[in-house]
Amino acid sequence: MTGPQPLANILKITPYKGGQSLETGWKLSSNENPLGCSPKAQDAAMAAAKTLELYPDGSAAALRQAIGAKYGLDADRIVCGAGSDEIFQLLARAYLSPSDEIVQSQYGFLVYRLVAQQSGAVTISAPEKDLTTDIDAMLERVTPKTRIVFLANPNNPTGTYIPYDEVKRLHAGLPENVLLVVDAAYAEYVRANDYGIGMELAGEMANVLVTRTFSKIHGLAALRLGWAYGPASVIDAIHRTRGPFNVNAVAQAAGIAAINDEEFQARSTNHNTAELLRLSNAIEAAGFKTYPSVGNFILIEFEDRDGRRSSDAEAFLRARGIVIRDVNVYGLSLCLRLTIGTKAANDDVIAALEAFAKL
Ligand SMILES: *Cc1c(COP(=O)(O)O)cnc(C)c1O
Repeated sequence: MTGPQPLANILKITPYKGGQSLETGWKLSSNENPLGCSPKAQDAAMAAAKTLELYPDGSAAALRQAIGAKYGLDADRIVCGAGSDEIFQLLARAYLSPSDEIVQSQYGFLVYRLVAQQSGAVTISAPEKDLTTDIDAMLERVTPKTRIVFLANPNNPTGTYIPYDEVKRLHAGLPENVLLVVDAAYAEYVRANDYGIGMELAGEMANVLVTRTFSKIHGLAALRLGWAYGPASVIDAIHRTRGPFNVNAVAQAAGIAAINDEEFQARSTNHNTAELLRLSNAIEAAGFKTYPSVGNFILIEFEDRDGRRSSDAEAFLRARGIVIRDVNVYGLSLCLRLTIGTKAANDDVIAALEAFAKL
């Protein structure tokens, strides 16, 4: 018996593999918030868990209002999803037919390719310079078949970003019928003066959507909560493709508390800014190349010789109870991606890499 056969394009998908965990030790493989989440969000989640028999508000109205109030956005032009990952899937469902194209950057976040494959669409990757998005290379690859351009800014796994002027230049070079999706999952961590998320573009242009997440700065990855802001027509298309209750009630309640807990957000960004600098300097001092990151993680480059490869470093760290992310699937086989952890975790990482350097 052969049984039912999925579509050919579905069978080509290599399922996404999340960061690995350890029984004990430091998990620094998934860019999770080392400070946990807002205590107020946790309380709100516990309170919401008392009425699990009730369906959630399918429109997530209170959550959209809270997000809109915080950022000064029209709540009608916000849509929430089960993580921003779900929003990417819904965009693919709404906008991509087989043999359509998406354009992304060479080391762009893997999920864009996966959602394109679900629709049988083709991913066109634009080469990067110094592991940074190259706008001209992206624009050169836009064809009449292009439907969506995905830009992670800052990008994961590289940690690099492009200035807001470059985002605007990318938008200005796109035909009006091409949707520019700016994935700003790490926006809150960025300290660079020339960075801009793109909210104004999403507010004014007919073809720009910005996606945000509660998984990183808000530390709510377990609940699966993301949102997008953009033109009414794109928001409408997402509403048509989403499940009627796509965001659960616990996530909605926690999200409202989290977005209003500015103290926790400030604590998270302050911790990240200080530890990102400390870790980068210490890793460089130990003799390893790091790429300049504005996110909550660092890409570290290793050598291409026996005993010194990224796989050797990964095994060495693992033996010391530290798990970080291998980025082979991106074609970055020399590199490993390290999430900024607690002070104690980062101390252990520094000590481990210093020891690995002296082997
Ligand atoms: C972590 C991450 C997200 C967030 O995904 P969620 O589904 O919201 O958890 C989105 N984009 C990038 C580039 C990320 O690294």
